[in-house]
Amino acid sequence: MNRAEPVRPKDWVTFRCQLCGNCCRDLENQLMLEPLDAYHLARLLRERGEVTSIDDVYTRYAHTDMLEGYLPIYTMNTEGPDHACVFLKDGRCSVYEGRPHVCRIYPFSVRPGQRGRVFEFYRCVDQHAGHFSGDRIQVKDWLRENFTRENREFWAAEGNTLPILGRLLSSLGAGELRASLFQILHYRYYSYDLDKPFMPQYKANMAALERLLRQKLGEV
Ligand code: SF4
Ligand code: SF4
Repeated sequence: MNRAEPVRPKDWVTFRCQLCGNCCRDLENQLMLEPLDAYHLARLLRERGEVTSIDDVYTRYAHTDMLEGYLPIYTMNTEGPDHACVFLKDGRCSVYEGRPHVCRIYPFSVRPGQRGRVFEFYRCVDQHAGHFSGDRIQVKDWLRENFTRENREFWAAEGNTLPILGRLLSSLGAGELRASLFQILHYRYYSYDLDKPFMPQYKANMAALERLLRQKLGEV
């Protein structure tokens, strides 16, 4: 069972990546692929000629799951007996520049903040704790490099959006939820033009999805 300890941006942590690749293994149904992650992966893989759209990323490298019984999500595919991430090749990340947010920020994690703070930060204290030796890093430097302005904007917006979507989706009822699945996935995950900035598209999509769900529930 993974544990997480709170850290503050001003804290110093001893950390050196040993490049063992172990944090990319044992990930079956563990690594959520957020729309912002899929957008950046799609742009990287399109440059390499491996995909043509964001749809291809979900189709080839991820599968759907249902969170809390009502929130459809995508989770990264794994391969082999050690359930390694589909992008782990020869012990290295093959999409390093476009890797998902959770990979980028590891060994830290982010959660919505309490008591007026937008975010809270944690250090992942898991089975890979051996990397907590060697160099000292200051948490705020790590965050500056790996928790980008776009990430912050996305996660702050998700903090506002997900409780609303959760209430609406959990009110739909199983039959209506099933019937609406394609539309929900379309707005949440698929409706992105890779040649336009992500955040304006995300905001428009989430507003459209909220309107659609309210209409289905007779709230507008
Ligand atoms: S488990 Fe730790 S040491 Fe190994 S690759 Fe991941 S971050 Fe680096
Ligand atoms: S995307 Fe890269 S860093 Fe993330 S789990 Fe897969 S191989 Fe590891």
